[in-house]
Amino acid sequence: MPYSYDSQNIFARILRGEIPNKTVLETAHTLAFHDIRPQAPVHVLVIPKGAYVTFDHFAAEASAEEITDFHRAAAEVCRMLDIAPGSGYRTISNAGSHGCQEVPHYHLHILAGKIMGPMLGH
Ligand code: 5GP
Repeated sequence: MPYSYDSQNIFARILRGEIPNKTVLETAHTLAFHDIRPQAPVHVLVIPKGAYVTFDHFAAEASAEEITDFHRAAAEVCRMLDIAPGSGYRTISNAGSHGCQEVPHYHLHILAGKIMGPMLGH
C-alpha cells in the first residue's frame, strides 16, 4: 500500500511557516530545528522538505539530491553542535504505530549531551 501524506501534520505546517521553530540549519531540501520537548540536553529534529512519511518512504522515493542534502545537513548539525567528532550522539527515527511515530513526516532525532543509556527503554 503506498504511503499517503497528511499535509496538515505539524512538521508540514512548520515547513510552510505556519508554526514557528527554533531553526538550527536550513538547506535546499532539509530543515533542522530544536525539538519542542527535548529528551536530552541536545535534541534536534532533521526533516526533509519533501512530503515523506517515514525513513523507508524517504529512502525509497526521494531523489539522490534530496537524500544527499538530508544526510549532509544532519552531519553539519552534528558538527555545529560540537557533538561529532566529540562525545557522540544517538539518532532515532520512529516509523508507524509500532515505532510510536507521533508526527507523520519523516524526521531524524539527534540526541546528545548526556550518556543515552540502553538503546530501548524497559
Ligand atoms: P516522533 O514520536 O514522531 O518520532 O517524534 C515527534 C517529535 O516531534 C517529538 O519529539 C515532539 O516533541 C516533537 N514535536 C511535536 N510537535 C512539535 C512542534 O510543534 N515543534 C517542535 N519543534 N517539535 C515538535
